[in-house]
Amino acid sequence: MTDIKKEKINLIEQEILNCKKCELYKTRTNPVIGEGSLDAEIMFIGEAPGFNEDKNGKPFVGQAGKILDELLNSINLQRENIYIANILKCRPPNNRNPKEDEIKLCSSYLDRQIEIINPKIICCLGNFSTEYIFKKFELKDKLEGISKIHGKVFPVSTLTGVIKIIPLYHPAVATYDGRKLDTLKKDFEILK
Ligand code: URA
Repeated sequence: MTDIKKEKINLIEQEILNCKKCELYKTRTNPVIGEGSLDAEIMFIGEAPGFNEDKNGKPFVGQAGKILDELLNSINLQRENIYIANILKCRPPNNRNPKEDEIKLCSSYLDRQIEIINPKIICCLGNFSTEYIFKKFELKDKLEGISKIHGKVFPVSTLTGVIKIIPLYHPAVATYDGRKLDTLKKDFEILK
């Protein structure tokens, strides 16, 4: 099973390495495909690579990544047991917000990753990720700002079973707001 998954992920990786669907390939150093266990029950979805991710080709390895690691540690979860991906695979210049057309052009890669990993829980990190996943799983009528819906569980029925969607604050907010770190820690408790 994992071999087939690996083949499928490798194919996505090759496609992303050659991707010219939007302009971001011109300014990126490395695309950030995603990382973790292909059999993970929990998938974390962020927004887009930042400076450090672009340099390393790995998700959440900068300041926000340190916070994410602290949160994972707080509930005894290891990166090897989860899967982390972003909506955009290439860094937007100066870490600007993703544009609507970039999300539209890039999101099929994430859709395929979700299909391959087939997680039981999807944690959306921040507003962009939450909005994308809520629209994808027809939860649009439940969509509110992250400050209203963070830490709540939204189950959705899919062809392969129920997926629990959990919106969370983006770990980057905790780098400048200590209270958000406490909120994130509390919200992470649900994953236990
Ligand atoms: N922020 C994100 O949304 N994703 C990363 O990989 C790093 C920072």
